[in-house]
Amino acid sequence: MPDCLFCEIISGNVPSHKVYENDKILAFLDIGPVSRGHTLIIPKEHAPDLNAGSCESAMDLMRVVHHIAPSIIVALGAHGYNLGMNHGACAGQIVFHTHLHFMPRYEGIPRSFEKQYPSQQELVEVAAIIRKEIGVS
Ligand code: 5GP
Ligand code: ZN
Repeated sequence: MPDCLFCEIISGNVPSHKVYENDKILAFLDIGPVSRGHTLIIPKEHAPDLNAGSCESAMDLMRVVHHIAPSIIVALGAHGYNLGMNHGACAGQIVFHTHLHFMPRYEGIPRSFEKQYPSQQELVEVAAIIRKEIGVS
């Protein structure tokens, strides 16, 4: 889809810190994470929001959450996670390509939804740690 940031990330025209992909789904680090390892999970087929896409595509998102969540938890020493989706501008959606927010949470660290802006190096390192645990080269 022209002018869609996440389609540009899927095509590789915009760089991202990938943590996992299969033929239907891509998972990559959010550049403004609310917690270490905050990951966006998106369908490769463009739809502006969950209900504009197919039910199968929605199921594919959750399959990937189920597949990668344990590895992210282990890789980062997290203790739990929040899953979130902003559906519509009034709900805070900024990028109109369906995406799930996977936000690892850590005992002893207050549960914040404030964005942080870690260095590229930090994002590179976090993505590599996660990929290694998932088994993505
Ligand atoms: P929304 O508010 O639409 O649910 O979330 C969009 C998310 O995309 C935000 O958390 C924001 O930090 C993230 N984001 C915006 N631009 C980029 C980008 O260029 N690369 C990555 N990896 N994430 C982005
Ligand atoms: Zn798109």
